Amino acid sequence: MSESSIFITEERIEGEDEGPLAGETVAVKDNISTAGVRTTCGSEMLAEYVPPYDATVIERLTGAGATIVGKTNMDEFGMGSTTETSAFGPAPNPAAEGRVPGGSSGGSAAAVAAGEADYALGTDTGGSVRNPAAFCGVVGIKPTYGLVSRYGLVAYANSLEQIGPLAPTVEDAARVLDAISGPDDRDATTRCEGADSDYASAADGDIEGLSIGIPTELVEGADEGVREAFWDAISDLESEGASYHEVSLPSIEHAVAAYYVIAMSEASSNLARFDGVRYGPVTESGGNWNEAFAAVREQGFGEEVKRRILLGTYALSAGYHDKYYKKAQDARAWVARDFEEAFEEADVLASPTMPVPPFEVGESLEDPLQMYLADANTVPVNLANLPAISVPAGETEGLPVGVQLIGPTFGEKRIIRAASALE
Ligand code: GLN
Repeated sequence: MSESSIFITEERIEGEDEGPLAGETVAVKDNISTAGVRTTCGSEMLAEYVPPYDATVIERLTGAGATIVGKTNMDEFGMGSTTETSAFGPAPNPAAEGRVPGGSSGGSAAAVAAGEADYALGTDTGGSVRNPAAFCGVVGIKPTYGLVSRYGLVAYANSLEQIGPLAPTVEDAARVLDAISGPDDRDATTRCEGADSDYASAADGDIEGLSIGIPTELVEGADEGVREAFWDAISDLESEGASYHEVSLPSIEHAVAAYYVIAMSEASSNLARFDGVRYGPVTESGGNWNEAFAAVREQGFGEEVKRRILLGTYALSAGYHDKYYKKAQDARAWVARDFEEAFEEADVLASPTMPVPPFEVGESLEDPLQMYLADANTVPVNLANLPAISVPAGETEGLPVGVQLIGPTFGEKRIIRAASALE
């Protein structure tokens, strides 16, 4: 397979002979560290970087018997929704020719959709597991913040992101979550008191009496075809014993703006380490430190990454910090409160995962703002640290549609149960 496709590298890491995932294969997003195997983050900056250690999730997967079959293509440093910002070129969508696979974990979703691996790992900062799952017609889970260790994940926006599984079925995704979740001394943000285990056992489809809240704000803006597929899915759930009612999340209109301010601010700080000394290409620039630093970053980063570092640096700078960053944090708290209130009236919340079907290749690159707005339904979940799953729910004009089920903190079993009823 060419470098501009689903995999960036196809080196294997063999798992243990025994374990719950023995003999099964996993493709891993290329921002998750693999000892001895190149980890590029889809960036020229890390094109030759080989980590000396494994991420915790890699240790856990191979310890459970799985074999890693390669590192998958992604938007550069996770910044995008289409996998087109990768320095290695775009990945295809096996479920929709001529369309993007979504992103940023597009290679991971494509690997599962094409049957190149039994499962895949992606990372979800603002939708990057759920969006490609929806666009490629597979299942993706974004766990509650803190359920899965981020040790060995190359950070984009650490307060928002979690590693999560992509798989052909809900039960498969839950089995991978079983393998990778749980506390880790090497990641102080793992926080699992109150968390469940044995997620696979929840994929039993039993939703008798389940109350589903439907946030109006997350449905009314979606394309007509997407809305039709969504409401069909809701009536299927109703016929299996669930009930639904509409709920409102008034703060949601600020979620995309707040997300991008926070994500870009954290990114501008996280990406400062790529300076050509610790990481990145060595350049010929003989000048002073500022010139050498600029030369490395000019060469190593793509356009979208540069845009975000600039905007993030601006939002954090003296005089603007309160105006942008602090305000975004206030909006984040408001979004979390709205969700809390919604869960007083509903067991799970449901929406289309993406308000639109997969973009045509090249379509969204011309207008970054349109691409950011397409994250409207996924980013609120990251702002509130909640778990969510995207499950395939039919098609619109031959293109896959995904339904998103959102749970309260550590409500993974609830959303797995509801998703398995839908599938
Ligand atoms: N599309 C969003 C962004 O570009 C989400 C990316 C992600 O979850 N890594 O930031």
